[in-house]
Amino acid sequence: MHPARARLIHNRPGQPGPVVYWMHRELRAADNWALIHAAALAQERGQPLCVAVCLARGFGLARPEHFAFLVHGLRETALELQALGIPLVLLRGEPGREVPEFVRSLRAGLVLTDADPTITKRAWLAQALPRLDVPVIEVDARNIVPARTASDKREYMARTLRPKIQRLLPEFLEEFPPLPAQLSPQATAWTAPLPCPDWNALCAEFGPPPAAFPPGETAARARLDVFLTANLPRYADGRNTPVEPAASLLSPYLHFGQLSAQRVALCVLAARNISVEARDGFLEQLIVRRELAENFCLYTPDYDTPAAFPAWATATLDKHQIDARPHLTSAAELEAGATPDPLWNAAQRQLIATGHMHGYLRMYWAKQVLLWSPDAATALERCLRLNDSLSLDGRDVNGYAGIAWSIGGVHDRPWPERAVFGVVRSMTYSGARRKFDVAAFVDRWGGS
Ligand SMILES: Cc1cc2nc3c(=O)[nH]c(=O)nc-3n(C[C@H](O)[C@H](O)[C@H](O)COP(=O)(O)OP(=O)(O)OC[C@H]3O[C@@H](n4cnc5c(N)ncnc54)[C@H](O)[C@@H]3O)c2cc1C
Repeated sequence: MHPARARLIHNRPGQPGPVVYWMHRELRAADNWALIHAAALAQERGQPLCVAVCLARGFGLARPEHFAFLVHGLRETALELQALGIPLVLLRGEPGREVPEFVRSLRAGLVLTDADPTITKRAWLAQALPRLDVPVIEVDARNIVPARTASDKREYMARTLRPKIQRLLPEFLEEFPPLPAQLSPQATAWTAPLPCPDWNALCAEFGPPPAAFPPGETAARARLDVFLTANLPRYADGRNTPVEPAASLLSPYLHFGQLSAQRVALCVLAARNISVEARDGFLEQLIVRRELAENFCLYTPDYDTPAAFPAWATATLDKHQIDARPHLTSAAELEAGATPDPLWNAAQRQLIATGHMHGYLRMYWAKQVLLWSPDAATALERCLRLNDSLSLDGRDVNGYAGIAWSIGGVHDRPWPERAVFGVVRSMTYSGARRKFDVAAFVDRWGGS
């Protein structure tokens, strides 16, 4: 593994004892740099390795079906790991307390964990570290170019991050090594059996996962395969069309870490008969936009508040706060998809029914909420709540960046001035009609 992926975040004297990988973002056995590194360190130390996952009692606004997606996927991952001789232990409760407790009970000597800049995960870590007497290493297995290596500061536009990523890609976009080291006798030499999760009970507890997205690493790979053959070839022209979209629908799998973005990129680069426009257009989203979102949350501690907006956007939104709104909406009207705009309602109903909304509509959706809210702060709060509670891929850096882009001009530039939006880019119903068959989309999801 490239050494820049790993970072010592808790400097304590090294100790003998098992290695624990506290997995909370990259929930997969395949193509996982944190797991690969943990296995290599366990092998080097001649110690066994186990994976610990802690199911928090609540996770922001996540719904039971989101937990179901996670738990069903994890069950498959646990089986994969078992085949490699690596037990997966499932803890429940407050991760910042439960994980250190488990590490202590195991007399573990080293902990590895996933890098994650979201507020919830920062809080888990802040609670866990003072309770740990062993070194802790954080591994960035989410980004192809590790976020801290790509840039050491907040980037204001894709234009400023893109060249940095492009320069480093040849160094980081490499094939993953296999994990055979874990088959060594030391790796499985547990002195006492570790608790085995009751997967049937867990799956029953959260109910079924969303029907539109079968969970797990195998389902993620199957969706990637369909995308490579059916949609990638038409991605350049079809990605912004919500009717018969060419998008990959991979975001839930990427969000829950059931699929590695690096694996997706390697497969896209290996795909045959794909135009340069389709390939580069997709990699721009998967790598540059996705890693820009990580950069935003990493270097903007208050990324979910208006304080994260650039000064020009704050000034223009303030100036236009007194503008008359064409409609003032309520939280209940938004939730139900019962606004006066049939396209907005159809998008909201697609989100409620499937746990997913098409990317073009996500921009339109958030911008209309700004248009119908008394101020930008209210619009931001409404979008974050709806997105995080209804989207399977919600509670993700991509969502925080996407909503801040739509409402607060983050990663964007000033546009011609309009009512309410000021110089923040606006999107209109007539603009959507020029792009795709709005009537067909509304018919499909029932927006009126
Ligand atoms: C208001 C708003 C809210 C959003 N909320 C979320 C969210 O909660 N979770 C989420 O993962 N994405 C979010 N996005 C970003 C983007 O819309 C989705 O990632 C994309 O629509 C997911 O569908 P897909 O996998 O079919 O995308 P594809 O077009 O197939 O793209 C492939 C992958 O590239 C990444 N990607 C694509 N577009 C973007 C983007 N604009 N920014 C960052 N990464 C991108 C995603 O990981 C995506 O899965 C949001 C965007 C906006 C404007």
